[in-house]
Amino acid sequence: MTTAEDVLKPDHGSHRKHFIFTDEHDQLRESITAYAQKELAPHAEEWEETTFPDSVFRRMGELGFLGLDKPVEYGGQGGDYYSALVLAEAIVHARSGGLAMGLAVQTDMALPPILAFGTEDQKQEWAAPAIAGTKILCLGITEPDAGSDVAGIKTRAVRDGDDYVINGSKTYITNGHRADVIVLVTKTDLDAGYDGFTLFLVPMDTPGVIREKRLQKLGMHASDTALLAFQDVRVPASTVLGQVGKGFYHIMWELQGERLIGAAGSVAGAQHCFDQTLKYAMERKAFGREIGKFQVIRHKFAEMATKIETARQMVYMTAWRFENGEYPVREISMAKLYASRIAVEVADECIQIHGGAGYMKEYGIERVWRDLRLNRIGAGTDEVMLDVIGKSYGL
Ligand SMILES: Cc1cc2nc3c(=O)[nH]c(=O)nc-3n(C[C@H](O)[C@H](O)[C@H](O)COP(=O)(O)OP(=O)(O)OC[C@H]3O[C@@H](n4cnc5c(N)ncnc54)[C@H](O)[C@@H]3O)c2cc1C
Repeated sequence: MTTAEDVLKPDHGSHRKHFIFTDEHDQLRESITAYAQKELAPHAEEWEETTFPDSVFRRMGELGFLGLDKPVEYGGQGGDYYSALVLAEAIVHARSGGLAMGLAVQTDMALPPILAFGTEDQKQEWAAPAIAGTKILCLGITEPDAGSDVAGIKTRAVRDGDDYVINGSKTYITNGHRADVIVLVTKTDLDAGYDGFTLFLVPMDTPGVIREKRLQKLGMHASDTALLAFQDVRVPASTVLGQVGKGFYHIMWELQGERLIGAAGSVAGAQHCFDQTLKYAMERKAFGREIGKFQVIRHKFAEMATKIETARQMVYMTAWRFENGEYPVREISMAKLYASRIAVEVADECIQIHGGAGYMKEYGIERVWRDLRLNRIGAGTDEVMLDVIGKSYGL
């Protein structure tokens, strides 16, 4: 029987199950967490130097983790969008932001447009092996002279008989060195404005595709980042992905899913950092007591927890709307903006709470900060998110 006393007692340790997740999602979360802790996390440091090996894709393909929300006919698990969120959150246990990003490029950046706009042949050729982990994908939007301003890209694809000839360059391309194929954003009609863009699926071994440079970065060291050149790359018209002239709209659609998954990853990264720091604050002593017992530090945790919880609810609620057929671009932008910002704030505060240890590599906190810092830039900067939100009110 429940007594008044039971009801009134705060239950801080309860399992706060969110309504979007079922018991199956919880089991999936446990399996991915166990896999990440056992098979990935032990290599996290080593992969900061070498980048993670391609075999991770194959193994995750075998385990079914690359196609959780993808159709069964292409080897996916046919699950809902929430299962993709579970992967984005649980992969944090690999302790490697670079690895999580490389995987997300495959599952949530390059695969969705192939599955949404591709022909049956393209899906069989690229989507099915990507879900199996035997082929690796990358996505090329950004160029040396155009990032936020996607419409300003210069890579051109010119029709020549049954072929197209592509010239241009792409930069900061994640998986660019290891990928088998690139989802490439090009301009096919210089006079057609937003209706002049076309996507292509360009095999990376096509003559004229040059992997120019492995770029060095602040964080996300376990991922490879490429500068790519396309010099007279001749591809058949069958490599067009989606509709000729509609590439801009296709890629804007793709970015929404990428941003929401990125937001989920930011929340998970912040939570992981928080948990690790909480443990530290309960053990580390100064002036005769655990540092977590100082009110100043306690309040830091309270602030961080409130921000993380707010961001998480934004992500889950927006995911619920997405899964239920809405296209909530404003809320996705808000979730991406807020989650990326608070994740960096939390990681920064966690370094502070660790003191000198936070600055040392061995605790891994500085790496979390460096990795999470990307999230305010990649997939659309804070400023671009603010612009999308502001414009959604007719401003
Ligand atoms: C590690 C890493 C991995 C990446 N992976 C990929 C990938 O796989 N594929 C891919 O295509 N891209 C990738 N990117 C590129 C990323 O999406 C871009 O860096 C990002 O969109 C910003 O573009 P930019 O770097 O050209 O910055 P710019 O567009 O030059 O922006 C510079 C500054 O100006 C601000 N700014 C620009 N326009 C406005 C405006 N209208 N109003 C106010 N401020 C503005 C920006 O917010 C920013 O602060 C990656 C980037 C990094 C760093």
